[in-house]
Amino acid sequence: MAEVKIWTLWNEEELTAEEAELLRRRAGDLPIPLDGAAKRDVETVLNTFLARNDAAGLAAPQIGISRRIIVFRTRNFGTGIPPLKNGPDYEVLINPRITQVRGEMVKETEGCLSCPDINVDVERADEIKVRAYDRTGAKINKRYTGFLARVVQHEIDHLDGKLIIDRGATVYYSKEKEAFFDRIFKGN
Ligand SMILES: [Zn+2]
Repeated sequence: MAEVKIWTLWNEEELTAEEAELLRRRAGDLPIPLDGAAKRDVETVLNTFLARNDAAGLAAPQIGISRRIIVFRTRNFGTGIPPLKNGPDYEVLINPRITQVRGEMVKETEGCLSCPDINVDVERADEIKVRAYDRTGAKINKRYTGFLARVVQHEIDHLDGKLIIDRGATVYYSKEKEAFFDRIFKGN
């Protein structure tokens, strides 16, 4: 499969207004049961994710599809090993909704394909319960903890038009791109 373009808030040192507009929008629910178009969107998001080895997760808006679909690894984070085509090392959630937040808030540094060249310290809940549908449209209830809970919260944020720069106070970037990012984050 040809590499699908990832939509970003900026590309090199240019803001991308059109892509940002879609990334900032609340994505729409999929119809349940899934119709043909919804099933195709789910497969596109999944296949795009499976073709990459640099993502813990992917949300549909990140490839320009404003629909509530996320996919994420459930193991082998940060290994550079692509996800296995037949699982079980990833999950797809459709119309996910966090129904319960538990445990401490934990701060860790996150990156995002849609916010290239920066990292942000983000506080997330250590445990969440999620109600969603799986890729066949069946209702599921899941519980996630630790790093996996963080990944799922990050991806669900994408469906609400929220990005790591909205969550974190501390943004890190290289000296090389300081002028551009200082302008964005410090208003210089
Ligand atoms: Zn992201």
